[in-house]
Amino acid sequence: MPPLFDAHNHLQDDWLTPHLASIDTDLRACGVQRVVVNGTCENDWSAVAALAKRFAWVLPSYGVHPWDAGNRSANWLTTLQAQLAADPRAGVGEIGLDRWILDSAKPDDPRLAGLRRAPLGEQGEVFLKQLALAATENRPVSIHCLQAFGALAGLLRHVNTPARGFLLHAYGGPAEMVAAFAERGAYFSFNGSFLAPRHEARRAAFRVVPAERLLVETDAPAIPLPAELAQFVLPPSSDGGAINHPANLRATYAALAELRGVSLAQLTAQVAENFSRYFIA
Ligand SMILES: [Zn+2]
Repeated sequence: MPPLFDAHNHLQDDWLTPHLASIDTDLRACGVQRVVVNGTCENDWSAVAALAKRFAWVLPSYGVHPWDAGNRSANWLTTLQAQLAADPRAGVGEIGLDRWILDSAKPDDPRLAGLRRAPLGEQGEVFLKQLALAATENRPVSIHCLQAFGALAGLLRHVNTPARGFLLHAYGGPAEMVAAFAERGAYFSFNGSFLAPRHEARRAAFRVVPAERLLVETDAPAIPLPAELAQFVLPPSSDGGAINHPANLRATYAALAELRGVSLAQLTAQVAENFSRYFIA
């Protein structure tokens, strides 16, 4: 079975912890060879490091997510530098910009409970410090962007990015911006949730991503793919929400191959090459 690669998930999440042994078995059975596990705040970095020790297929990544930017400690950057220094394979992420939490999220959204929602300018400062760290050390970086693609493009015009490029995870920006981001060095990871009928614009963007910049991801346990495509199911969260199983990566590859009009074998080989070039080389 040709190897599969998950460019972005959150295996350290509490919703997945009770199921790690079976997830390990399922991922191996599906031929998943590497999974990039993204920390989101200082509090979860040690859990990410522990997973990288426990499972040979985990590639760790450490960062402060824009949702968590407002709750960072005074020493966050020093702690991040130490975390990176401890593992030369580690990437920087998940970092980024998110206007959705400011303009669109409900005040009582349980996913944002207890978080101070940092204004976009403050998110930008936290993002740029982490991006600079990735650029200096030429580490892979995983970028989250929600409803802030103009702002992101503006920031990227004025700063150094890692020589290896940067990943726009679950790219949900316009198809028209793909070429300019790619020119700056962007990779784009396709998420299974984009297979929902309402996400035609996101699928359109992935038809024009250059083949050599294409990656695939689950973002598990977040943003599940449509239920009828999920081959692996986990018990729902306490509020009844669906929990995305990381082994649903396989179904996402198959759907992306169909979307791009290439064979699954062709897509799998291309993504393997891209993943190795970006995350491992
Ligand atoms: Zn994520």
